[in-house]
Amino acid sequence: MHKTIAVIRGDGIGPEIIREALSVLEKIAEKFGHTFTYTDVEMGGCALDKYGDPLPAEELEKCLRADSVLLGAVGGEKWNDTPGDKRPEKGLLRLRAGLGVYSNNRPAKIWKQLASASPLKEAIVERGIDFIIVRELTGGIYFGEHKTEGDTATDVLRYSEAEIERIARIGFETAQKRRKKLCSVEKSNVLDSSRLWKKVMHKIVADYPDVMLTDMLVDNCAMQIVKNPSQFDVIVTENMFGDILSDEASQITGSIGMIPSSSLGATARGLYEPIHGSAPDIAGKDIANPIGTVLSAAMMLRFSFNMEKEAQAIEDAVSAVLDEGWRTADIMPGDAEEAALCRQVGCSGMGQKILEKL
Ligand code: NAD
Repeated sequence: MHKTIAVIRGDGIGPEIIREALSVLEKIAEKFGHTFTYTDVEMGGCALDKYGDPLPAEELEKCLRADSVLLGAVGGEKWNDTPGDKRPEKGLLRLRAGLGVYSNNRPAKIWKQLASASPLKEAIVERGIDFIIVRELTGGIYFGEHKTEGDTATDVLRYSEAEIERIARIGFETAQKRRKKLCSVEKSNVLDSSRLWKKVMHKIVADYPDVMLTDMLVDNCAMQIVKNPSQFDVIVTENMFGDILSDEASQITGSIGMIPSSSLGATARGLYEPIHGSAPDIAGKDIANPIGTVLSAAMMLRFSFNMEKEAQAIEDAVSAVLDEGWRTADIMPGDAEEAALCRQVGCSGMGQKILEKL
């Protein structure tokens, strides 16, 4: 199969982690007989320096012409005083809007090899943590009217049936590819928009008879994620609830450098990126953890290109490298006894180890 990939290296550690992900993709292409063609796209601080715009129209065009988009990270102190609409992160918001990606999917998974990094009790971690939060990305309170009149401020939370239905379908389809359990999270005991959300979920479930749908109130869900996370397979929720719950979920896994994400819309083209930022404090030192980006590339193969075997091969390679004790600095165990069983590698060293396993 031939696929085109727009590649945004971005700022800070972006170029380093993307380099490792591209080597892994090339290995997959060789092993499984595919051809991937890459187009470099400039976005973020680097584009701002060069063009005075964090995402020039031609750069967005390149993304729209590609089969999918892989992003490192953007931003950094150098651009902190840039006016709001010119900030590197603004390029990212414009990219998401331009690509029409309305669904953000973030896995929360504990690698058994890194279990001690979780802030949760061992007994809870041992039951296994492996779920995905599917968050609606372009509607709800973040996109409703915002206004301040005198001493009163208002933000409008609004959803249409159509907006709920399209994210619901992504939730069900994601569950179908996993353990077939979908938990719909809302606040239907208080909010009309949540009652509509629940109604639509229960209408759509008829199209997915193989998926078990459950409902949960968001406050309970926030508690369950730390109390009993192994109960979840896929959580689907609206924009603000998803924003908060996905940050909570990423923390229970204990390591920001390990977590990938995908953002999808109506087409197969998605935006894939690690959840962390450009980490300027460690940029250029070859110590960043590339695994979140490598796993984002695996998600791209699975969700945009329908290459399940290839995605699994990457995930298995990462797991095998962790089994052998290879660690970047951020995932080295704090405990001296445990650390003695591990070996530290840099960003390129970790990429190399994953390639060897492939
Ligand atoms: P950050 O995620 O960049 O870094 C937070 C901490 O985690 C730092 O100590 C960093 O060294 C560490 N870290 C992050 N990724 C790592 C990795 N792969 N391996 C090892 N350690 C890693 O968050 P921040 O410092 O708040 O933000 C830095 C810049 O990134 C800011 O300009 C911010 O706006 C931007 N940002 C960009 C994105 C994005 O591009 N999607 C997301 C978040 C933040």
